[in-house]
Amino acid sequence: MSSAERRPQQAQLPRGGRAAHNVASVGAMKLGCIADDFTGATDLANNLVRAGMRVVQAMGVPRQSLDAEADAVVVALKSRTLPVNEAVAQSLAALKWLQAQGAQQIYFKYCSTFDSTAQGNIGPVTEALMQALGSDFTIATPAFPDNQRTVFKGHLFVGDVLLNESGMQNHPLTPMTDANLVRVLQGQCRRQVGLIDYKVVAQGEAAIRTRIDQLRAQGVGLAIVDAISNDDLLRLGPALKNMLLVTAGSGVAISLPANFGITPSSMASALPEAEGLQAVVSGSCSLATNRQVLAFIKAGLPARSVDPLQVAAGVDVVAQMLDWAKPLLGQGPVLIYSSADSNAVKAVQAQLGVEEAGALLERTLAAIARGLVDVGVRQLVLAGGETSGACVQALNITQMKIGPQIDPGVPWCHAQTDAAPQGGLHLTLKSGNFGTDDFFIKAFARLV
Ligand code: ADP
Repeated sequence: MSSAERRPQQAQLPRGGRAAHNVASVGAMKLGCIADDFTGATDLANNLVRAGMRVVQAMGVPRQSLDAEADAVVVALKSRTLPVNEAVAQSLAALKWLQAQGAQQIYFKYCSTFDSTAQGNIGPVTEALMQALGSDFTIATPAFPDNQRTVFKGHLFVGDVLLNESGMQNHPLTPMTDANLVRVLQGQCRRQVGLIDYKVVAQGEAAIRTRIDQLRAQGVGLAIVDAISNDDLLRLGPALKNMLLVTAGSGVAISLPANFGITPSSMASALPEAEGLQAVVSGSCSLATNRQVLAFIKAGLPARSVDPLQVAAGVDVVAQMLDWAKPLLGQGPVLIYSSADSNAVKAVQAQLGVEEAGALLERTLAAIARGLVDVGVRQLVLAGGETSGACVQALNITQMKIGPQIDPGVPWCHAQTDAAPQGGLHLTLKSGNFGTDDFFIKAFARLV
């Protein structure tokens, strides 16, 4: 019998934090998740919902106890590229809050391309969480084969190429120049890193548990896990039951709800009925988003672009956009966008500066999103990771219930906020390259 099997079923995590007395209000919470960025958090939440969990996403570590029924809560941090000690501190604060809500298992979520620097933050955050939880072993795998992320003999492939040939080697903040994840993670960890390879995974739960026991006996604290098909992830899931901490991309989430006796159900994604006016605000300049803007315009729907240079010149573009939108909103969705192709973006950046241009447009689009909600928009599509972050802040949104998927990784969500009194607001946060070309049109149909 493996040491994991000897543990009690669904071992309760040690509780931390002051809010422990409020656990009764959210007694159903099973999985506590910590995500190192915003749209990645939604991606994880979406997979959990599809596997049957009711999920709430919190923006940052909440100040109060959770006031919603949820099987899982995803605390969204922006810790991916913070200095190591800040990322660790924020992750531990999230852990403490999740423990106080009664979480039975913790899931640390990072990017499916294992985005990290030589120092971290995947390794240091994982080890800090292990220490806080009293855990001597965990797994690490960004694999999500259905989304073209496979791990074979410890090496990460993005589509058909190794990670270090996928373009990620040129990432401005987290260049990934080595596809061997055992080596990458070992460089960030004090504990020894090992491998559970595809041959073991293919044999299923018992073989995986035996391998975990072997690795433990050898003093290994973390293991990269191979997965070359989604079935591998489903075989891995049962072996993770009772593991205090799981670290992964969003892929492993497809197999965890079953460990809690939860099966897929449309009830998991149920949101309040959608009402109100519809709008899209887009600050993403990614190729997919630019195609989505074009498709919206080609469909003859009303769209208007924000000119960054006018904003910089002090023109009240927010008022102009809202005046334009108000009479049109009654007829259907409108689109307001700063999205532009790379040449146009470069020209603006050369004139205003890269960061200045980004911040200026984020502020402007956030004010437009807020203005649209103030005049009755209750179904809002936001495009762009940073853009969504700024808009969500302007809308005073601190937590969202995750609803039905529109496209892989992009669900509708619902938030209560003083910006949209009574019924709250339906919104979706679409990161740059997600979604089919007709996303801005079909998203609204998905809510009906
Ligand atoms: P994505 O998810 O596609 O990366 P983000 O919103 O995260 O989208 O990032 C896009 C960034 O580009 C934001 O900072 C945004 O303000 C900025 N931006 C948007 N439109 C323009 C533009 N026309 N010129 C320059 N920068 C822009």
